[in-house]
Amino acid sequence: MGRTTAAPIDWHARAAALQPDGRAVIDGVRVAAASGATFDCASPIDGRKLADVARGQAADIDAAVASARRAFADGRWAHQSPAARKRVLLRFADKLLAAKEELALLETLDMGKPIRYSLAVDVPAAARCIAWYAEAVDKVYDEIAPTGPQALALITREPMGVIGAIVPWNYPMIMAAWKLGPALAAGDSVVLKPSEKSPLTALRMAELAVEAGLPPGVFNVVPGYGHEAGEALALHMDVDAIGFTGSTRTGRRMLEYAGRSNLKRVYNELGGKSAYVVFADCDDLERAAKTAAGSMFFNQGESCNAPSRVLVQASVAEEFAARVAAETVKYLPADPLEAGTVMGAIVDDIQLRSVLGYIEAGKAEGAVCRAGGTQARTDSGGYYVAPTVFDGVRNDMKIAREEIFGPVMSVLRFDTELDVIALANDSPYGLQAAVWTANVHRAHRVARALRAGTVHVNQYDEDDITVPFGGYKQSGNGRDKSLHAFDKYTELKTTWLRIEPAAS
Ligand code: NAD
Repeated sequence: MGRTTAAPIDWHARAAALQPDGRAVIDGVRVAAASGATFDCASPIDGRKLADVARGQAADIDAAVASARRAFADGRWAHQSPAARKRVLLRFADKLLAAKEELALLETLDMGKPIRYSLAVDVPAAARCIAWYAEAVDKVYDEIAPTGPQALALITREPMGVIGAIVPWNYPMIMAAWKLGPALAAGDSVVLKPSEKSPLTALRMAELAVEAGLPPGVFNVVPGYGHEAGEALALHMDVDAIGFTGSTRTGRRMLEYAGRSNLKRVYNELGGKSAYVVFADCDDLERAAKTAAGSMFFNQGESCNAPSRVLVQASVAEEFAARVAAETVKYLPADPLEAGTVMGAIVDDIQLRSVLGYIEAGKAEGAVCRAGGTQARTDSGGYYVAPTVFDGVRNDMKIAREEIFGPVMSVLRFDTELDVIALANDSPYGLQAAVWTANVHRAHRVARALRAGTVHVNQYDEDDITVPFGGYKQSGNGRDKSLHAFDKYTELKTTWLRIEPAAS
């Protein structure tokens, strides 16, 4: 029998045929915004309009929260056994995988990342996250406290209630899944507000969840702007917790909204300016440079944990900077719908202008631009930036202090181990960090000293749903992923029972 090879997919043809539905999903059905208002959803690839999306506002959030509360209160989901919830969520994960090509295309069109990564990373990772929490939920046990003989104290976890999830545009499906996985597995109901820049996959996910058997009202999606739908959700008196991922600026607001409303719990997963420390005793400078470039320019540099502050020991700094600048030729932006493309479009015009503004600030402050530094593919109608490396950066420069959220790396130089610990920690952020050294003692010393939620040693690529993800300092106060995420979406209850001694 001869082998058949599948013909390559013509993503442009599929994109042209696509007619995404931009209506909200409330109570298990598609609905227009109560006001009838919509906003334009356009593709950063070429500026083409993709859909009219429901412009959710307070009335739509009220309807979604009421639906979520009804679903929670009558126990249609929360009172199912963990094993029953597992079965539904595993079907949901299977449906995400079965719709992989459609979801990947929506993700790429909506936020500009290369189709190869939407297919290989975003959709599978979102499905794996849902499946992992489904598999976990009937294997976690509660506790009995070590009290005296006349008492029994049960420490149990209960679903928290109605969770508001507010997520960004850089990994729309994965960020949604990091909230949905633990919250739905725990038995909560969710109202998800996707970013106005990338609402399409979240809406489709909600439909697939209903098809998988998730009861109506358990998972609602209301698209809209942050200052409208987002604010209404975070201020809502009947929302028990907000799972937020986004900028530190908006994270501050989440805490204010909670203070101004019902003191709902707020779990913030915020920005980063991760330090990537390379010592002269690193035994593979080439791999260190390749890994830095690969992690920095993946997803157009629009990753919260991108190693955007690279700190290199002075004696190897010139060699490292030259290597990393040379790597940029592998990441030149191209059409995200072509299978070979590794660098796609910046999410929109606003973000493009912000990134270009930082590049200008770097040049004006005297940093040396060793690669890129310009807009790219200007005749495409979309938004592209060449992968950019600045050398000779000082830690007080704007490009070293602020999160750029684009393909711009800053290389700084240091002399001693003590210097670099102080330099790396001199940032309002503390999401991730890396240490490259062949000295095992130094690796441990520096990893302990770095104030970051995750520290990588001699690598930067490892990532898995089994480990917590979150930051120190102004990178946030929560942890997504791993069993620890259940803490965010469950209440801890103590129940005391008296045990009478035997009568005789
Ligand atoms: P953003 O803060 O502008 O928006 C995030 C979400 O909040 C969006 O849904 C937006 O509509 C909503 N929002 C905006 N203003 C609001 C308001 N006033 N009230 C209520 N909701 C509001 O962030 P972004 O530009 O979408 O995302 C980029 C940021 O996300 C970066 O800082 C990045 O580092 C961060 N991020 C962090 C993680 C993490 O796990 N720590 C992961 C991904 C992205």
